[in-house]
Amino acid sequence: MTRRLYILDFDRTVFDTDCFIADTKILFRHALGISARDFDATQNLYIEPNTKYYNFHGHIESLAGIGQHDLDQLITSQLRDRDYLYPDSAAWLATRDPLTDTVIIMTVGRPPFQQLKFNYAKAIDGLRKIIVPKNKGELIREHILDQPEIGDLNLTLNLYDRVYLVDDSPETFTGLGKINGVKGLRIVRPDGKYRHIPTPPSAQQITNFGDLP
Ligand SMILES: [Mg+2]
Repeated sequence: MTRRLYILDFDRTVFDTDCFIADTKILFRHALGISARDFDATQNLYIEPNTKYYNFHGHIESLAGIGQHDLDQLITSQLRDRDYLYPDSAAWLATRDPLTDTVIIMTVGRPPFQQLKFNYAKAIDGLRKIIVPKNKGELIREHILDQPEIGDLNLTLNLYDRVYLVDDSPETFTGLGKINGVKGLRIVRPDGKYRHIPTPPSAQQITNFGDLP
């Protein structure tokens, strides 16, 4: 029996972040009076310069004076059962056999925003989700070279015959480099944010989850 570990990025790999943001913008216009123009004109002020994390809650609080808790409640009450997983990733996740395939979500970003988005991705409900503070590829590389466990993430890679890292961002694979034991799979979707940036030669390019090994 071949045991496989899939480490999946969240935003724009399994989750249609741009569609989620677009829907929240419509909601903010109706419920909070925030115009799309004001939203767009101020969004970059809330991209934290060092980490590049988007401070979604801080952004909306500055525009409408609504705190994190109330904002999350507003979104929950309006978006309710919406699901923003891409159809191909949701279908792939639904057909995993847990005896052979372990799937975890590894994501970077501000935890309150990442947690909020997880609520709109039902097929990852039961999966382990790890919010990491830096480039995933670099982090995995450092810990493989150093020790088989990824620090306190307790991810024992040598339990698996195959380890796959799937991400839409080419920088993840630049960080990972070519390393034994982990295969990089870079997903490029037709409207993907980074689609114009070439896939590093150390990674294999795919276009949807149906292409995964
Ligand atoms: Mg991503």
